[in-house]
Amino acid sequence: MTDTLPIAETFFSVQGEGKLTGVPSFFVRLSGCNLRCKWCDTPYASWKPEGQPREIASLVNDALATGARHVVITGGEPFIFKRLQNLCDAFAKARMHITIETAGTVFEPVACDLVSISPKLANSTPWDDPRDPDASWARRHEERRINLPALNALLARYSEKQIKFVVQSEGDIAEIDMLLSQLSNWQREDVLLMPEGVVAPSPEVRRWVAEICMRRGWRYCTRLHIDIFGNKRGT
Ligand code: SF4
Repeated sequence: MTDTLPIAETFFSVQGEGKLTGVPSFFVRLSGCNLRCKWCDTPYASWKPEGQPREIASLVNDALATGARHVVITGGEPFIFKRLQNLCDAFAKARMHITIETAGTVFEPVACDLVSISPKLANSTPWDDPRDPDASWARRHEERRINLPALNALLARYSEKQIKFVVQSEGDIAEIDMLLSQLSNWQREDVLLMPEGVVAPSPEVRRWVAEICMRRGWRYCTRLHIDIFGNKRGT
């Protein structure tokens, strides 16, 4: 059988978030997710998955053709796909640095150089969302969004890691503290706070997020790609 995965899009850009911000990277966005975040900025890979099957070999060829040495495997949720292992093995064989971006609800021991985990806080649950009139997704999302065994398995498996939280208000911090108290194998420098939104945050928002980071020893997470390109697909 052909080795394929459903792909919403691929593109060459700079990594916009996290420890590798600014690094030229080839992005592979898998289409499909086990969550439905209210503020998801890639609904074409979650709420209404788009795209088509792509052969793994052609994805690697396209990545190498850009000259990038880094690949970012994102979604959607990469870990729900059985063939993620084959995709990661192929990029590892091509000697590319692999980042996987995940919500941390599923764990598989695949090849990965940096795991970027973004646990979803209560602010993500799509209550009263017109896309989910019977709240069936809201209930599933709420049940699935935190999986402590999966989170701890990811943190134990990968030495290079970051835990990125999307925050809407200072009220989110108590939930973050509670979650972190149940996780092992992380350091405070691995924790990133990113203001929610697909536009650059206001100076006031940047300030309260930065002040919390300074108090806790966490990192403020910018979105460089939004600053450079705006909220556009393929960037
Ligand atoms: S986990 Fe990511 S891709 Fe899935 S719905 Fe949430 S933000 Fe969107």
